[in-house]
Amino acid sequence: MKYDIIVIGSGPGGYIAAIRASQLGKKVAIIEKYKTLGGTCTNVGCIPSKALLDSSHHYYDAIHHFDTHGISIETPKIDFSKMVERKANIVETTTVGIKYLMDKNNIDVFEGLGSFVDATHVKITKDDGTAETIEGTNIIIATGSKPATLPFINLDKERIITSTEALKLKEVPKHLIVIGGGVIGLELGSVYKRLGAEVTVVEYAPKITPTMDADVSKELQKVLKKQGMKFAISHGVTSVERNGDEVLVKATDKKGREVEFTGDYCLVAVGRKPFTEGLGLENAGVQLNERNQVEVNDHLQTSVSNIYAIGDVVKGAMLAHKAEEEGVVVAEYLAGQKPHIDYNLIPGVVYTWPEVAAVGKTEEELKEAGVNYKAGKFSMRALGRSRASGDIDGFVKVLADTTTDEILGVHIVGARAADLIMEAAVAMEYRASAEDLARICHGHPTYSEAIKEAAKAAWDGKPLNA
Ligand code: FAD
Ligand code: NAD
Repeated sequence: MKYDIIVIGSGPGGYIAAIRASQLGKKVAIIEKYKTLGGTCTNVGCIPSKALLDSSHHYYDAIHHFDTHGISIETPKIDFSKMVERKANIVETTTVGIKYLMDKNNIDVFEGLGSFVDATHVKITKDDGTAETIEGTNIIIATGSKPATLPFINLDKERIITSTEALKLKEVPKHLIVIGGGVIGLELGSVYKRLGAEVTVVEYAPKITPTMDADVSKELQKVLKKQGMKFAISHGVTSVERNGDEVLVKATDKKGREVEFTGDYCLVAVGRKPFTEGLGLENAGVQLNERNQVEVNDHLQTSVSNIYAIGDVVKGAMLAHKAEEEGVVVAEYLAGQKPHIDYNLIPGVVYTWPEVAAVGKTEEELKEAGVNYKAGKFSMRALGRSRASGDIDGFVKVLADTTTDEILGVHIVGARAADLIMEAAVAMEYRASAEDLARICHGHPTYSEAIKEAAKAAWDGKPLNA
């Protein structure tokens, strides 16, 4: 069978690329080695983690916040297996939805491991060993990523686990030790903290979420600490050992002292690595870079001109929406269009509560680049909306160019930051100034008023409600 485009991998990068290519008149095949479509994001990433975050949030609210709203209930109990089952159902509905989209767009779905025979032929090998080969004028590699680990850790996937296992535990840990204070560590750490576990985050860098704006990391650590999460910052883990149902984690603190943590589960969340095993890249001549990512140029074209690569398997942020944008861009490019991605405007979100969201540059990046900027900050607690809901932690910070007033970065810690950040992304896409945002009428009372106020603080230094 011959196709215009073969997509290998059905995560958000792959399946969106397939849909867009089909919309543009291409004959498309997609290959997925797992039984369900949707990749990491749908099966063991974004969707199941958010389902558990939402369920655990309700539980936490019921225990800690209902009373302040004048609602008294008997002490709520967790049916953890039901919570996990609900999550599994949400995942299933979503994967079935993706299959529906493939059918609707006349995309041929092949189940099996895709591997290059040469630059235009891909062999698909099923679990039972049977195989078939299809031909593609263009091929898009969208094989995603897998959890990274540390060389001395033996991931037994029972007590010493990655995010994949943490999404389907049979019990709430008593003490979860999380290695890595990045996005996964803090999101899944939050889930189990809210459900009653003791949670200790051991982070190598001097702050959690090391790549985010320093103010944001500080505020986030403060609020998570208030929720009972413990942090061992600037601690380099040196060993992780399991003894029966116990896990012992040893680390060295910044003064060189050895510190021990004993728990019943250890979540290793130290990043993810590109996945290309079994893909047979050598048969097609596709090259990897020094970080084992598929090497691509600005058009996401690999070292072989008819083969493209997108998403977690190439450089850049490992985010579902980044993979999706790249999928659209490659499909449109192959259809003769001139698409474009502004990588500076890909928002980043952490689904703790309060949520964290950012777009554009951090203060540290602006300083490093020698850009003259001004910062306007507005505290969530000054908002009527926040007081009404009780979500008073956090702030919005707007960074703008000192001379032109153009918005260069927006950083939010606060309720619904994940959704709020898009106002900033739209403004920045249109190269708005802080004054532009400050002069836009925002609904009252809304959390979004904090963006207007922070923008006004950046523009003229005079927020109205502070
Ligand atoms: P993937 O989603 O990894 O999909 C790749 C697919 O390719 C997989 O299904 C794999 O089986 C298949 N494949 C690989 N090799 C082959 C082969 N040879 N043949 C056939 N098929 C193959 N990102 C966000 O933006 N927001 C979030 O809230 C978020 N939450 C996350 C939570 C967790 C716990 C994790 C682990 C990740 C999360 N991410 C989130 C990151 C997000 O999941 C990834 O950035 C995204 O899935 C990358 O998409 P992708 O299409 O590049 O690859
Ligand atoms: P991450 O890069 O966000 O965090 C890894 C953390 O581990 C870093 O803080 C790092 O300093 C720390 N670390 C590394 N080595 C260590 C060591 N030896 N000891 C202690 N700490 C160590 O990676 P992650 O949290 O594993 O997530 C992987 C990817 O998945 C990320 O790129 C992220 O973008 C994506 N993801 C996104 C979301 C979201 O968008 N909400 C959610 C989950 C995952």
